[in-house]
Amino acid sequence: MGRVSSRWSTASASTNTTVCGSATAKTDASSYSTRTGTTSKSGPTSRGRIRSTSIPWRTSSTSPSSSIASRSRRSMVRRSRSGAAARRATSPASSWDGRTASGSTARAACTSARCTRRTKSSSTAACSRMDQPRYLLGLDVGGTKIAAVVADGPGDILAKIRRPTPAALGPDAIVAEMTDMLTEVAGAVEIGPLDAAALGVSFGGPYDPVRGVVRDIPNLPDWGGVPLLRLLSDALPGVALAIDNDANAAALAEWRFGAGQGAEHMLYLTMGTGIGGGIVSDGRLYRGLRNAGGEVGHTVLVPDGAECGCGHRGCLEAYASGPAIARRAIEKLEAGEGVEFADALRDAGIALLELKTESIVEAARDGVTFAMDHLADTAFYMGWGIANAVSILAPEVVVLGTVATAAGDMFMEPLRRRVVDMAMPGVGDATRVEPAGLGDLVGDYAAIALAVDALAP
Ligand SMILES: [Zn+2]
Repeated sequence: MGRVSSRWSTASASTNTTVCGSATAKTDASSYSTRTGTTSKSGPTSRGRIRSTSIPWRTSSTSPSSSIASRSRRSMVRRSRSGAAARRATSPASSWDGRTASGSTARAACTSARCTRRTKSSSTAACSRMDQPRYLLGLDVGGTKIAAVVADGPGDILAKIRRPTPAALGPDAIVAEMTDMLTEVAGAVEIGPLDAAALGVSFGGPYDPVRGVVRDIPNLPDWGGVPLLRLLSDALPGVALAIDNDANAAALAEWRFGAGQGAEHMLYLTMGTGIGGGIVSDGRLYRGLRNAGGEVGHTVLVPDGAECGCGHRGCLEAYASGPAIARRAIEKLEAGEGVEFADALRDAGIALLELKTESIVEAARDGVTFAMDHLADTAFYMGWGIANAVSILAPEVVVLGTVATAAGDMFMEPLRRRVVDMAMPGVGDATRVEPAGLGDLVGDYAAIALAVDALAP
């Protein structure tokens, strides 16, 4: 669910890189900004190899742009899972090729009490992993960057690499790049990718988790119908696998590792290129028909209002997404409001039509009245949309990413008041509205959250 196609047209936030587990977590949570990460090369030391399939896997094992990033998130991510995690279950079984709707392969668990790996064999003797620690692999696949991570069993990320997405080369090349990156990142903890217990893939485009295939992507026409689940499960036999779109995966990550921890019912929304999000209900992702549940961004607030990318008018997304925030500000400035701010932009050499939401947030943080007022107006719309969702879902917590985390209390406080004022009495004031907890790391943990899901009973 969620508007995920935006990820294919925007650069992913990058990460700094270090080696050997020193914490390098970024504090800036603005994932709508474009960044360039530092890189350091580290050769793979993997013991295992990914099995070839009919796909012409690329065999190169190195990339000049790859990097290894070892990090600890203990300082920024709270660690306390309630019984909710234990009660979680994978999505209902689908009719597609024996996989579950979440993309997990249906394989029996190894019978050894010391081994959590799933294998096609139920024989302990056939499982070579019973004395090995459990590792989880993750892929965060975007239109411009792919990140591969390896985590320990509880989900602490141990290493990360990033490479550009070879988008122009088509799906075969991209899938080959994915598997090559898994080999490299698994090597950072001295395992092969086939030794991992599970792989989670957060896919930055429309994905059908029931059929296990990618839906049409407007600017990547070759991807429509690609059976990503089958390709990856063929490449990693015995490794539990879960794939979902990045909005659902991010919701799962915030619920499992971020600001939604401990909640049974959570709504996650991110105010990026679009307003994407996901719903966790009773400790599970709520997907809805066609995996399209939770499209809060396309609930209509203003009849015959601003045009939305979905083709309708007056949607929340047309007022509170990153581009919509900038557009509304430009309209105000063109109408003569915010003269001082307009002058400052001109002095800085920024054309009005090039104004970005990042600049508005920065100006608001610097105390520029026009920018602060504009964020308050945006909080009005966003709070309105959230209030409607709260009245329907009654979540314990609403977690907001991107603009909300970048702007802080000047945005969150008026938004919270709006939710209380407009949501159903008795629910709005009981629902917490919190900024996302994972910041720029959400993509990494989105993939790992899916990997954890793939192992759920
Ligand atoms: Zn819409």
